[in-house]
Amino acid sequence: MADVSEYEYDLLVIGAGSGGVRAARMAAATGAKVAIAEDRYLGGTCVNVGCVPKKLYSYAAHFHDSFDDAAGFGWQLPGPASFDWATLRDNKISEIKRLNGIYQRMLEGAGVTLFNARARLADAHTVTLSGEHGDISVTAQKIVLATGGWPWVPDFPGSEHALDSNQIFDLDTFPKRFLVLGGGYIAVEFSSIFNGLGSETHLIYRGELFLKGFDQQVREFTCAEMARKGVNLHFNTNIERIEPGQDGYNVHLTNGDVLEVDVVLAATGRKANIRDLGLEALGLSLDDTGKIPINERFETALPSVLALGDLITGPELTPVALAEAMQLVDIHFADTVPQPLDYSTIPTAVFCHPNIGTVGLSEEAAREKFTDIRVYSTDFRAMKHTLSGSQERTLMKLVVDDATDVVVGAHMVGDDAGEIIQGIAIAVRAGLTKQDFDRTVGIHPTGAEEFVTLRTLTRR
Ligand code: NDP
Repeated sequence: MADVSEYEYDLLVIGAGSGGVRAARMAAATGAKVAIAEDRYLGGTCVNVGCVPKKLYSYAAHFHDSFDDAAGFGWQLPGPASFDWATLRDNKISEIKRLNGIYQRMLEGAGVTLFNARARLADAHTVTLSGEHGDISVTAQKIVLATGGWPWVPDFPGSEHALDSNQIFDLDTFPKRFLVLGGGYIAVEFSSIFNGLGSETHLIYRGELFLKGFDQQVREFTCAEMARKGVNLHFNTNIERIEPGQDGYNVHLTNGDVLEVDVVLAATGRKANIRDLGLEALGLSLDDTGKIPINERFETALPSVLALGDLITGPELTPVALAEAMQLVDIHFADTVPQPLDYSTIPTAVFCHPNIGTVGLSEEAAREKFTDIRVYSTDFRAMKHTLSGSQERTLMKLVVDDATDVVVGAHMVGDDAGEIIQGIAIAVRAGLTKQDFDRTVGIHPTGAEEFVTLRTLTRR
């Protein structure tokens, strides 16, 4: 590392979300003098208005099915189960506060200086921090931009009445009628959550079928299961306008339908959160995809300014930001040359109901990439539902490159799909073959054992 004495810090991180906090802590652990600036909550989107509260709400929504399922196992409830939104919301708020405290203590414990301030780049090594005590300038040898993304809502008449994912968690009143616009992760997750919690739920998606980019069979299967659970799916349509009604909102769709609902959530994607960061003045701009261009060392066009996570190209996922933070620190503070991150085998879960877990290539992508593929898939009613009476089904699927026998994709829709695919992801990442899967002994009785007992070829 160059002479650091001319700067106050070796590293200044802007943004205390998943990636920023990890970069700050790991850099400090190498002996670097590190500061982090954050003007909102510690933990960023994931902890405060993303993964964590979403998963808690998803658990809450799953109880709906559990109460129904219990009867077949002999359980009788004293009366119909009822749901209290305020209890869930307020318990969630307490839990997030606890996590914010843990993040603060983790940073303090690592010796990282925390500035509760808004940061703006002044030059390649200087950041202006605006906090309650006015503006100060701080210099650093390296600056990491880790400000993540921010929800984006399209412009249409009445779009100001739509909430975004930052605003949906702390509603004062539970929406009896809920509508979400979009067909990505957030739309399918929140329609499942509010449907499970008891709202009349509508999902509006402009395309043929939601979850673009996912395996087609997974998309179709999820669509059927979500519809069975009661989510009203409206495809090939969009919101034309939202008008306040007597009681809630009248949402006019481009297909002519009008839906009366209490809350509209726009889940229409996120954009890099770079407002007022001072990038333009320093000649740093976004590329055509709306991301900050970097090289393999996470360096922007200004080599002292680095960027990671949702600001750069790649899946907008917490574990990806964490992995990038570790790489960045290895490169810049530990002087090691880590193996580049393998973006092709990043597993992901969508916490719609039932959950989706997936790693590697979809069947469609594999067909494009390889001359011949083999597909093994099964769909079945899980053992639990023999007694519960639920008609819910589970899908499991392996996609294999025929020439090498390597499993290039694994997909699941069903209970705990994320938990199961996390393990399968190690095998796919390691490039194991279908024969390796076949030679692995199952765990009985589980649903997951299907992944090692898929013997019948479904199609080529
Ligand atoms: P996504 O990018 O996943 O989906 C956005 C959706 O909005 C798409 O279906 C898109 O349609 C639609 N859309 C875009 N523009 C318009 C428009 N003008 N009018 C109507 N519809 C529009 O974004 P999300 O907001 O759902 O989530 C953001 C990101 O956060 C995700 O991509 C994911 O990386 C991350 N995330 C991860 C989660 C997880 O790991 N479980 C959970 C939640 C979020 P089209 O498909 O036609 O482009």
